[in-house]
Amino acid sequence: SQTPHIKRIAIFGSTGSIGTQALEVIAQHPDKFSVEILTCNGNDELVIDQALKFRPNIVVVAEDQKYTKVKEALANTDVKVFVGEKALEEVASMDCYDIMLAAIVGYAGLKPTLNAINAGKAIALANKETLVVAGDIIMRTAVEKRVPVIPVDSEHSAIFQCLIGEMRNPVEKVILTASGGPFLGRKPNYLVNVKREHALQHPNWTMGAKISIDSATLMNKGLEMIEAKWLFNLSPDQIEVLIHPQSIIHSMVQFEDGSIKAQMGLPDMKLPIQYALGFPRRIKNNYPRTDFKKLKELSFEEPDLKTFKNLTLAMEALNKGGNLACIMNAANEIAVYAFLRNRIGFLDMTDVIERTMNKVAFIESPTLDEYFESDGEARSYAADIIKL
Ligand code: NAD
Ligand code: MG
Repeated sequence: SQTPHIKRIAIFGSTGSIGTQALEVIAQHPDKFSVEILTCNGNDELVIDQALKFRPNIVVVAEDQKYTKVKEALANTDVKVFVGEKALEEVASMDCYDIMLAAIVGYAGLKPTLNAINAGKAIALANKETLVVAGDIIMRTAVEKRVPVIPVDSEHSAIFQCLIGEMRNPVEKVILTASGGPFLGRKPNYLVNVKREHALQHPNWTMGAKISIDSATLMNKGLEMIEAKWLFNLSPDQIEVLIHPQSIIHSMVQFEDGSIKAQMGLPDMKLPIQYALGFPRRIKNNYPRTDFKKLKELSFEEPDLKTFKNLTLAMEALNKGGNLACIMNAANEIAVYAFLRNRIGFLDMTDVIERTMNKVAFIESPTLDEYFESDGEARSYAADIIKL
């Protein structure tokens, strides 16, 4: 027996940066949300705590070795515990929830999210890689199933909010703002020596490891350009990147009369998470407010494409389409994890991605299986370069 006005949430990737912040939001609004599914890769301790607190229907642990411990810890509850990648995909189509928060990092989020869309679930999408890999199929399926895909990524949430009430008004362009990451203003002679600890320090946001590295290389902004293309049905020349180090303007939309709307606020992912879960209603909160009198300046500059070549590669993938973004994403995942394990240097990441993009066969309009194959080929080629 469910209370009709309570939204039943499935958090895929509940132990991550987005997942834990979503649970903070949900905990403050038991009258609006219930938690029905929690999933994690290997963080058994945390998912056990979360399950004991939120009492979902189902917990899925992706990694086999972590299953027994979670199962035992929840033995005296009525929480069902499943294990493995297949289970992750299967529970995505279960009846027990209304909205999936897609907060798994990387390609691993694709299949569960696609299953959820096919099952008619609303999607609050944090996992941008899903759209980078197979945005055409994801968005086409969402339209067919009449499923809303509500962005959680702060820039896309900003654009989404700017577009409310503008259904009949064509967009001239969107301006994706970027903080520039920890290495803003640096040149290759500096970047060649940076190590993981330094690259993980983001000036404005605390995030998972992979997206932190993507922010340092500006690949994150490239992924976000591709994400914007699919979410808002834009052509590549309608998507502009602007460095805005203070992260107060989360992004902007320019309409055909030259008028520009911006969405602003303090940088806090709980805001776009809450907006996506509450949509179409805004939820009152008491988080710190923006005080314009205390903001010293809002500044803007062009991205340095010569130094941050990952962004250039992503623009190439955006322009060329087909499976190129899928190939790039796979190579980037391999390169980022190699960098995080101190196997390759910061600038080597670009090299791995570029060589993989040049190597794996281009397909103009891939099927879903062809996307899976391109992903696999790109991963093994990138791993070969690194000799993983
Ligand atoms: P994270 O690394 O902190 O968390 C990732 C979650 O996914 C964890 O729960 C982990 O257990 C799970 N996971 C990882 N690999 C998995 C696998 N192979 N199978 C199943 N589960 C797996 O990442 P995050 O920073 O929370 O980011 C999640 C997604 O949200 C990413 O796609 C990221 O780009 C996007 N995003 C994050 C932020 C942010 O502020 N953190 C902002 C915008 C967008
Ligand atoms: Mg973002």
